[in-house]
Parts: sequence; structure tokens; C-alpha cells
Amino acid sequence: MPTLALIATGGTIAGAAASATDTTGYTAGALGADALLAAVPQLAGIAGIRAEQLFSLDSKNMAPAHWLVLGRRVQTLLDDDAIDGVVITHGTDTLEETAAFLALTHASAKPVVLTAAMRPATALSADGPMNLYSAACVAAHADSAGRGVLVSFGDAIYPALGVRKRETHRLDAFGGASAGAIGRTDPLRYFAPPAAAPRPLIALAPDLAELPRVDVLYIGAGTPPGLPDLLIADGARGLVLALPGNGSLPSAWEPPVAAAVARGIPVIRASRVGMGPIGRKAMDDRLGTHPAGELPASQARVALMLALAGGDATALDRLLADDYIP
Ligand code: ASP
Repeated sequence: MPTLALIATGGTIAGAAASATDTTGYTAGALGADALLAAVPQLAGIAGIRAEQLFSLDSKNMAPAHWLVLGRRVQTLLDDDAIDGVVITHGTDTLEETAAFLALTHASAKPVVLTAAMRPATALSADGPMNLYSAACVAAHADSAGRGVLVSFGDAIYPALGVRKRETHRLDAFGGASAGAIGRTDPLRYFAPPAAAPRPLIALAPDLAELPRVDVLYIGAGTPPGLPDLLIADGARGLVLALPGNGSLPSAWEPPVAAAVARGIPVIRASRVGMGPIGRKAMDDRLGTHPAGELPASQARVALMLALAGGDATALDRLLADDYIP
């Protein structure tokens, strides 16, 4: 039987409410890893589990400093010959950022699988126990090798890059990039062999203490174009614009965006639309912006933080190249 490491970080999957019908007024991260395991004794039939409690957070409070701690812990576990895969329980709210961070900093044939829940552990028909069971099945399965970091949620398997939370309440809360889920867990099967070996965007320097600040700006009709300057003056080292439609930059934004790029502040054109890729346009050559490709704005931000942290000017273009994201 394989041996899996389970890293618990909190979230609704570890949430507790006063009533079994309360699915919104609860404390995320209230229960420990032991309670999660106790709810799924069937895990003993698929793997040996070594559980640890790294954080007990509502993932709205997860920050880049937590990603660095988690990333280093995951690397240590992946380097351990006794561990065959890693499962991480997390809140749904910022799961896509943590998943992107891990995907962009690790390369191992061993699976790393994140999962979560929409209903607290105390709720009627809580989805956490089955999601945890499925995630462990994914991490323990031979066909998961070489697929990088995965998100197992609601009977579907998504690659970390491109995944996004797309629904605020319903249980089928996640979606993938244009290609969608790459497999399902009921029963477990992948739709195609792994596309390419995972490769990290940057290797985390052991002494990297924090990530450069990158902000996401949501652009509505008539949003004032002076905002980039304000954020840069406040310390932003890069910007992601969540733009209307297909990354459409309002004309009034062109001068401040070009000025930001000229000052060495990279700018990514992403979309405020929930789905669909952003491809390169003539505007990107003119202004020096980068299209987000299949990444949602939240993940484009993580990618830009890491590209800036790695100090490699080509990292971002490599990431956004068509072959990087499944
Ligand atoms: N606020 C919770 C969290 O992200 C939501 C959830 O896990 O579903 O931790």
C-alpha cells in the first residue's frame, strides 16, 4: 500500500457550525487533521496516511508567507523516499492561488493533490469526507504520477494551473481552464495520458522570505485610469488587470499601462470573465503587456509574483506559452 502525507491547513472541510443545517455561519479550520481522518476510516484501505496540521486557517487569511511555508514542507515530503504522494486540505476561497504556487514551484513525479469542501464537517451531507477520500485515491493511484499538482473536488480532477472557484455556494464549485477536468473520481480515471512532465517556473531559493507584491485591479466601465500609479506608489511591483471581455483594455488605460511597463512594472492582461483564454494581441507588442493565457487573474498574480521573485525575465513568457498549461 502507498504511504501518503496529509497536510491539513484548515478551511470549510475542517469547519464546524452549531447546527447541522447551517452551511454558512460556521468557523472554518476549527477541526484538526485527526477529526478529518476519523470521518473517513475507509482511507485505511487505500494508503497509509501520515497526517500533520500545518495551519488552521480560513483560506481568506492565507497569504504568500503561508505559501512559502507550505511549499517548503511539500518539497521536504516529496524528497522523502517513504512518501508516495501528498494530499493537502485547504479552504476553497483561495485554493486556486495555493495550487498555482505549488504547481509553479515544484517538479516531482509524485502527485500533490489539493482538496476542500463547500459544506462544513458538521453539515448534513457534508462534502468534505468524500472529497478527502477521492483526493487520497487520486494521490495513491499509479496513473497520477507525472501530472504535477492536481485539484480533486466534486468527483472531478483538475490540473492546478487554470483551476478556479466558479460558484459561491453549490457543491460543484470548481472549474478548470478551457480543457476542463482531466479526469474523474467516480470511478477514478484520466481522460488522456499526462501531456508533459511538470516543470517549475522557479526553484524556491531557500532564503526567499517574501514574494514581491503584485496587485489585481478589477476594471469596470469607467474605472479611473489613475489607479495603477496609486498602487505602484504604494509598493506594487507588478499588476494584473482583470479586464472586461477578452482582456479589453479601455483606451484611457493605455498611457498609464505603457508608463508602468516602461518603469519596469510588468502588467498582465487577464479577464474579469470567469472562463476563457486571453491570447496575445497587437496591443501587447505595442504596450509591453502579457496576456494571461488560460490563467484566471488570481493565478496570473501568483505567477507574476514568482516570476519577479525568480528574477528571470523569461519566466513569465515561458509560463504563458501555450504548452505550459494543459
Ligand atoms: N472561507 C472558507 C475557506 O476558504 C471557504 C471554504 O473552505 O469553502 O477557508
